[in-house]
Amino acid sequence: MSNASLVLPPQGETTVPVVGGGAFPVRRIYCVGRNYISHIREMKEADERDPPFFFQKPRDSIVTDGSTIPYPPLTDDYQYEVELVIAVGKQGVNLTEAEALDHVWGYGVALDMTRRDRQRDARAAMLPWEVGKAFDHCAPCGALHRTADCGHQAKGAITLQVNGTEKQRGDLEQMIWNNSEILVQLSRQVTLMPGDLIMTGTPAGVAAVHPGDVIVAAVEGLTPLTIHIGPKGSPLVQEA
Ligand code: MN
Repeated sequence: MSNASLVLPPQGETTVPVVGGGAFPVRRIYCVGRNYISHIREMKEADERDPPFFFQKPRDSIVTDGSTIPYPPLTDDYQYEVELVIAVGKQGVNLTEAEALDHVWGYGVALDMTRRDRQRDARAAMLPWEVGKAFDHCAPCGALHRTADCGHQAKGAITLQVNGTEKQRGDLEQMIWNNSEILVQLSRQVTLMPGDLIMTGTPAGVAAVHPGDVIVAAVEGLTPLTIHIGPKGSPLVQEA
């Protein structure tokens, strides 16, 4: 690191509130693709026993509970995916299943917001998924619970409502790759670090939302996440 003075103001740290007080500093956001059979089937995607694969969202795409997010450009099929998020608290590489959960700091509820039309285009053209998965405000994340308070999240309902109507319902025990297995596999690709968040995949029921819609994402036992969809080009209104 150099001591040279910065030539632009630094961008602020991204944090997620912690239940009971404090803020979790976010380092990277990883997402698991295709981790519930029901969602693989609705997407008509490949082999149901493929190993997990990972993609990332930008750190500054996090928005917090209660926020209004602009309807993004470049899409006519803007979709939600409710996901359990694992918050990593300890550095780890090549983890074993026995040690993996020791690296979990806590858990929360997140949304993997997706420009589904752009994701499908990219997939068909064998191009990267960024345009569909990694864009402004694409990673709403609810308050995080310490593992000491909430335990390890191995089962329990995972649900999503739009305007009060249930759209997604699954159970964490339906994950093809469980939390330990996800940590093992990801830690073979990259060094996991404190502050990393991992979205663990979504059950069936994904569909489009529109300006004015209200999404409530929930995992049994964790604090739910509410997000409002603003008009196209509207400013982000983030809860303090
Ligand atoms: Mn997802």
